[in-house]
Amino acid sequence: MSDCIFCRIAAHEAPTKIVHEDEHVIAFDALNPAAPLHVLVIPKRHVASLRDADADIAGRLAVASARVAREAGYSESGYRVLTNVGSDGGQSVAHLHFHVLAGRSLAWPPG
Ligand code: 5GP
Ligand code: ZN
Repeated sequence: MSDCIFCRIAAHEAPTKIVHEDEHVIAFDALNPAAPLHVLVIPKRHVASLRDADADIAGRLAVASARVAREAGYSESGYRVLTNVGSDGGQSVAHLHFHVLAGRSLAWPPG
């Protein structure tokens, strides 16, 4: 989708620090980081949210998220992987993304 910012990032059409990429998935730094590590892991093809994800892409995003955290050195200290769905879930970009947050003690429950 040409009007989707994450599709543009996946197509390398928007300046972004990419930290991981394979055939199906791309991961990049969030614009407004909420933790010392804040990476977004997305499918390259447009999927609006977890509501529309199949097991293949959901699994790929989960495995890539763990890889991003491990390669950044947070495997042992811990990290959080989450995805916001819809308006009450706090989703502001309508292209599925897993947040990978690390580098500080993360509060629970989220607001
Ligand atoms: P949501 O609120 O949808 O769960 O998360 C949206 C995420 O996208 C936020 O972490 C925000 O910083 C990030 N974001 C929004 N627009 C851009 C952008 O243009 N570039 C990058 N790198 N991140 C973005
Ligand atoms: Zn998109």
